[in-house]
Amino acid sequence: MLDSFMPDIYQKSIYDIDYKKLKKNGIKCLIFDLDNTIAPINMKKPSKKIRDLIEELKDMKFKVLIVSNSPKKRVEPFKDILGVDSAYLSFKPLKNKYLKILKIYKLKPSQIAAIGDQLLTDIWGANRMEFVSILVNPIGTTDYVLTKFNRLVEPFIYNKLNKKDLLKKGHYYE
Ligand SMILES: [Mg+2]
Repeated sequence: MLDSFMPDIYQKSIYDIDYKKLKKNGIKCLIFDLDNTIAPINMKKPSKKIRDLIEELKDMKFKVLIVSNSPKKRVEPFKDILGVDSAYLSFKPLKNKYLKILKIYKLKPSQIAAIGDQLLTDIWGANRMEFVSILVNPIGTTDYVLTKFNRLVEPFIYNKLNKKDLLKKGHYYE
């Protein structure tokens, strides 16, 4: 059960991930979580730093997607300004949206890396799909209500993983 929450890769932020290595390992599509992964929830539009990263990833020929549990109105400015496809109200870790993505873009699970800040949604969801799961530290300190629930449960999981020496905060790996 604990394995379900173990990220394949753990990095400080989306700017610290070795995308070249992912490319080399056959990853074609990057699925980003939005809130606290790409941007803090009080940031309404992507900053220049975010825009530059996404452009760079597109230049590397990655298919870049935003898959968020947040509503349309939250996701839309990021989708539009970054020029990426997106899914809102995705109910991660449920599989529906992920399965749709495999179908629409004709991808195999092994060609997808999913990046997010939460074990219970992003990492569990990615692992269930057998995507490469990448955990980053959450940016920003405020959370939506649902996320607050997850943030209560998450410490227990972190604690268990920590005790087994599997995952320690700030101990990054690839
Ligand atoms: Mg998040």
